[in-house]
Amino acid sequence: MIPTDFYPECFWGVAVAESRCSGQATLCSPRFNSPFNTQYQSKMSDETEQQQPFQAEVQQLLDIVINSLYTDKEIFVRELVSNASDALEKLRHLQLTEKEIFDHDLPLEINITTDDTAKTITISDYGIGMTRDELVENIGTIAHSGSKQFLKAMNEDAKKESSLIGQFGVGFYSAFMVAKEVKVYTHSWRNDGEHLVWISDGKTGYTIEEAPGQRRGCKIVVELRDNEEDHDYGQFSTSSVIKGILEKYSNFVPFPINLNGERINTVEAIWLKPKKEVTDEQYTEFYKFVAHAWDEPRFKMHFQADSPIVINSLLFVPSENKEKWGMGQQEPHVALYCKKVLIDPNPKALLPEWLRFLGGVIDSADLPLNISRESMQDSALIQKLNRVVTKRFLRDLGKEAQSDGDKYMEFYKEFRRFIKEGIATDPEHQESLAKLLRFESSMTEPGEFTSLSDYLTRAKDGQEKIYYLVGNDRETIEQGPYLEAFKARGLEVIYFDEPIDEYVVSSLQKFDEKDLVSAAQADLDLGDAPEAEGEALSDEDATKLCEFLTETLGDAVEKVEVGKRLVDSPVAAMNPEGQMSPQVREMLKAMNQAGASPMKVQLEINPRHELIKNLAAKHESNPELAKLAAQQLLDSALLAAGLLDSQMPLLKRGYDILKEALK
Ligand code: ADP
Repeated sequence: MIPTDFYPECFWGVAVAESRCSGQATLCSPRFNSPFNTQYQSKMSDETEQQQPFQAEVQQLLDIVINSLYTDKEIFVRELVSNASDALEKLRHLQLTEKEIFDHDLPLEINITTDDTAKTITISDYGIGMTRDELVENIGTIAHSGSKQFLKAMNEDAKKESSLIGQFGVGFYSAFMVAKEVKVYTHSWRNDGEHLVWISDGKTGYTIEEAPGQRRGCKIVVELRDNEEDHDYGQFSTSSVIKGILEKYSNFVPFPINLNGERINTVEAIWLKPKKEVTDEQYTEFYKFVAHAWDEPRFKMHFQADSPIVINSLLFVPSENKEKWGMGQQEPHVALYCKKVLIDPNPKALLPEWLRFLGGVIDSADLPLNISRESMQDSALIQKLNRVVTKRFLRDLGKEAQSDGDKYMEFYKEFRRFIKEGIATDPEHQESLAKLLRFESSMTEPGEFTSLSDYLTRAKDGQEKIYYLVGNDRETIEQGPYLEAFKARGLEVIYFDEPIDEYVVSSLQKFDEKDLVSAAQADLDLGDAPEAEGEALSDEDATKLCEFLTETLGDAVEKVEVGKRLVDSPVAAMNPEGQMSPQVREMLKAMNQAGASPMKVQLEINPRHELIKNLAAKHESNPELAKLAAQQLLDSALLAAGLLDSQMPLLKRGYDILKEALK
């Protein structure tokens, strides 16, 4: 048990590192990423005494909050306590650099009082407080793009609200779920700050008035709404209810929380404890605290090592991929600690970028406490931590995949993007990551996935390649002309059906020493197909037909050949080796890039196909129709290959052919 009564100078029970944050521009706090505004300008005018309207977006947000979609109203307590904790964290960092701090002897703690006669709950902290400008800026407007995204997401799918509210930092406004009025009494840490109170009913705007005697920090008085038939707002002015909520959500807040004078939270650095001493509930609770998360963790990885460096690390994979709603790239949020002291809540170089979905803590006793953020990127020690933790994470994930395939697949479906991104961007871990890939294939049922290793266990004797096809989805891939040759020979083909897969194969190239080869590639020697049905064209007729087609199709083809691969389709456009794939070309085209000019393909004809045999028989007697047929075959092959730029000629020519045929 870690002693917790060292406050206020201590965090997780250990003294704060001197000078670990330089200046005030980037303050370390688990939840604050935005620069702290140090520009205080005294602005006192009659105008601000009058009611100010909220910024339109705040109003929108408040409407959502007040007409509450949120069923979980108690979360406002957690939000306000989190803000208080952040404000204290910021103050603690300022104490390292600032000599003059208003009310400097106040303890770093959070005090909560309830009054069930007045129906209020009051949450006060002795943190950094706010100036008048900061009040306007921080709680009268939405500066964070995250909150704007939140609004967007809410409009799109209002049901996700309770998991979104914390994530987007709409925290403070959650008070209006339960409040008829909120008062924020505050004095900034600056000696020249004002004693102020911000007052709002959340509906009509806010006023800022003077509040003589206010101490440093913030005191937020929430006057609860009157009870309604199915809503008991009054409960939040009852000590026992608030105690229960605090015990649920706020155990890991790194500052003392007192409720009506009684100390509530215990502070523990659970990542330093032996695994067997930590319960699942504690892990989950800690995850929610450290990752500012609402969901349950999907996986946790708690590991301790003494060599090559001392590491105590506790990592969590969330339930949900937070990037999946198109809200941009997440910040890395595995915090870096040294012996329980927070060095940086969002260190960029600590883990590879593709691991940004992880939350948690990495603590290394080997780190110098005064490491600055700037030098961190280059620090050999950080690189070592990065390597060791990433390797370990991949190893543990691999074990999870082995021991519970279904659970792993659930993870994979949600987070595969990151695994694939890692393969395309991180050569060092590519090999381990490739083992974690899962795909559908010609030998899996729809919706079933296989790994590359399992593919190899099914490979035919002497099969030296791993075959794949890229396409938009399983159906498109299976209806194309490429698969049939592989199916006829019992060769498995992996389906790559996401745009990023193109990067995955081109970066990976090999798995377990075996080349990854596109099944659409020309010049693949698959050996003879077993007992091809039907009579084929004679060599002589086939050669003549190929010559006719080469001449008719001109520059559009590199060459026309009799193929051994086709079974049911008359023709297929093969991708000559070394040429870019249709998918890459598609991307270049979308970006309007050079290099997307029409590609020359190699056309393979199926000498057993009725259509090809008829064409061979007719091309001399009815050259006009044969030319139309040749063009039509090429365009159909290009369409199947994803290489046809315009489909209209195909359509129009189809009518011309029908016209001829029906004559
Ligand atoms: P978030 O905490 O995610 O930034 P909030 O809506 O909860 O979003 O708070 C908005 C801003 O108001 C905070 O970023 C902070 O600048 C300011 N704020 C809120 N509560 C406090 C507090 N107790 N002390 C100082 N500043 C606060």
